[in-house]
Amino acid sequence: MRLSRLRLSNFRNLVELDLELPLGVSVYFGQNAQGKTALVEAVYLLAIARSFRAENERELVNFEAARAGGMALVEGLVEDDGPEVSGSVAAGRQRVIIGYRASPSNAASGPGYRVHKEIRVNRMRRTAGSLVGLVHAVLFSVLDIGLVQGPPSARRRFLDILISQADPLYLQGLQRYQRVLQQRNRLLRLRREGRARPDEMEFWDDELVREGAWLTWRRHEVMGVLAPACVRHHRDLGEPGEALTLRYRPSVPLSGDAAGMAASYYESLRAVAGRERATAATAAGPHRDDFAIVVNGVDMGAFASRGQARTLALALRLAEAETLSAARGSGPLLLLDDALSEMDAVRRRRVLEKAAQYPQVLITTTDAEQVSGFFGRRASYFRVSGGGIAPCALFGGD
Ligand code: ATP
Ligand code: MG
Repeated sequence: MRLSRLRLSNFRNLVELDLELPLGVSVYFGQNAQGKTALVEAVYLLAIARSFRAENERELVNFEAARAGGMALVEGLVEDDGPEVSGSVAAGRQRVIIGYRASPSNAASGPGYRVHKEIRVNRMRRTAGSLVGLVHAVLFSVLDIGLVQGPPSARRRFLDILISQADPLYLQGLQRYQRVLQQRNRLLRLRREGRARPDEMEFWDDELVREGAWLTWRRHEVMGVLAPACVRHHRDLGEPGEALTLRYRPSVPLSGDAAGMAASYYESLRAVAGRERATAATAAGPHRDDFAIVVNGVDMGAFASRGQARTLALALRLAEAETLSAARGSGPLLLLDDALSEMDAVRRRRVLEKAAQYPQVLITTTDAEQVSGFFGRRASYFRVSGGGIAPCALFGGD
């Protein structure tokens, strides 16, 4: 799979853009605030169907366009040439369009407009859930330090995005689980007020176990591939003598196989029943999972130095790319957004070497020489300036 062309209009400060994306490595360089992250954000949007950084997606629509009632468009041409293991995507070319239409809003707070999002693949309307998996991509960003030092939710999100791109059934299951969770929490609140029937609770327990047990098992399976890959990449990037272990910490203990997990889940629900009565919130299940990142016996969540956390985050992303590659039978699109700026030259080189093995890699940087020194003529270069992106011959004559 590769993205051959990207067209944007009114996407943040990228007002009008039509870009042929080369295979291999392409480097987008420019000063701060020119639109480098916006470019990567638009590409990753095609993969996960939402922004990786906007709290509210109305932020994506160019301010002026939004005030004038216009819309933001992200359009990608996806060429499928590799084998598809999941069988969910037909080979050939697909046109993916994600649009955000702004309309006036009279909410007391906010910018005075709201946006409506619409997704189309080859002109047909799609839900966000059914888009994920068509473009598979891995994003390396400066925010990744949160994978190590951030809350468990950051690591759950990491796993969910990885597995959803690898397996469309997972995302559907996750969405069902979240709906069940909401219903069950609502019922727990009603029960606290003495307004629920006991048999209703039983029904939602069964639903929760049915959806949740499988998610836990899938995460366990994927961790079985991800963890050794991460350990290997970390060995190549980290300090000699640092021994990494990555351990899945499911809220519901693993047991036997996917089917055996149900019994374990019921057992967990019995164990937390008292707490759930008090807090009126579901206390066991994949929404409370985490994984531990431990180096030489020390939990990195609490004790990683900044450099250690950066290196671990890079190893996690490289492992994500490898896991996704194995699941899909072809390499994902790699997006490196300013991800190497804090690394020393040796580590930067090693990451670039690893990244360059993927069929299509987009790298943004403020310092073109850091990257061009490594790739030379083996990469294509583009200058990002004031919301415009233009090919640039860094090496006179090409
Ligand atoms: P850096 O090197 O600092 O990471 P960058 O090139 O990655 O910079 P972006 O994050 O892509 O910069 O932001 C580019 C510019 O777009 C910024 O000046 C930002 O304020 C602006 N911007 C963000 N959202 C919008 C929007 N909705 N409309 C117009 N401009 C926007
Ligand atoms: Mg940026």
